[in-house]
Amino acid sequence: MDYAEHVIDLVGNTPLVRLNAVASGPTPVLAKVEYFNPGGSVKDRIALRMVEAAEESGELRPGGTIVEPTSGNTGVGLAMVAQRKGYRCVFVCPDKVSEDKRNVLKAYGAEVVVCPTAVPPEHSDSYYSVSDRLVTEIEDAWKPNQYANEHNPESHYLSTGPELWEQTGGRITHFVAGIGTGGTISGTGRYLKEVSGGKVRIIGADPVGSVYSGGHGRPYLVEGVGEDFWPTTYDREICDEIIPISDADSFTTTRDLAHREALLVGGSCGMAVAAALRVAERTGPDDVVVVLLPDGGRGYLTKVFNDSWMASYGFLSPDHGGGSVGDVL
Ligand code: PMP
Repeated sequence: MDYAEHVIDLVGNTPLVRLNAVASGPTPVLAKVEYFNPGGSVKDRIALRMVEAAEESGELRPGGTIVEPTSGNTGVGLAMVAQRKGYRCVFVCPDKVSEDKRNVLKAYGAEVVVCPTAVPPEHSDSYYSVSDRLVTEIEDAWKPNQYANEHNPESHYLSTGPELWEQTGGRITHFVAGIGTGGTISGTGRYLKEVSGGKVRIIGADPVGSVYSGGHGRPYLVEGVGEDFWPTTYDREICDEIIPISDADSFTTTRDLAHREALLVGGSCGMAVAAALRVAERTGPDDVVVVLLPDGGRGYLTKVFNDSWMASYGFLSPDHGGGSVGDVL
């Protein structure tokens, strides 16, 4: 019989899929589809590694509570791991996170505290401050702190990087990913640079307005990526290039992925693919561009995939339809 003992044993080893319709040049553009993780996103990888490391170090004790500011995906990963290991979870997230995503966390049995998005991180109501306060108030609480936990990038150094090298037979030449905590790009990037002797180019995709691409924290709508501060999990030396992508480009590309590649993925995936397509415009047939797609699209049906929502921000253009209720195609 071939079965896993628990869903957390199924984290990682996600497939690579070639983008055929949205990418038409000579360079293969391969998508690492992270929604195949059991919790539905790339964050399962860091959740598992951070919890196991905290158990090893004694920071997380049996019966303890995990408290974390998260935009949803890290929460799902943590909730999944916590359920297996018997911990309580309290998650703190900004109000721009869709209600669907918050309900998923609750469905896994976690508690969710919602905070305003439009306040600076140092404000007492920010989701960073509130989670800090809860850690001191709750007994035996442990905060993974994905923005400062070295096991976040390490999980990608140990899993995502080696997987990509093996899946491409060492032929990967460009790795493109969005930057939130920076864990994905820093850990995967470090592995790929080391194993290739510095040959693989690491390219960040970043929402216009975020600090990584020179912004000052101007608000944007794409979720899970970009920051208004510099987390220590991001290695500022890792990227050879960072490409700023507008919300409009991120969301129209996200819809294209569903409509033309049958990949129903989240808005940060469209952002990363928009950057990867720009990279592929200047590469040749011997190059291999890999772009990481962090999560699936079901958490965004009332936003990116909703025509009225898109139109209310002026994001719907005749060239970038993507299918959605009401379209005549
Ligand atoms: N996309 C989504 C939807 C995410 O939740 C995250 C994590 N915040 C990212 C991209 C960015 O990944 P990382 O934190 O590893 O930079």
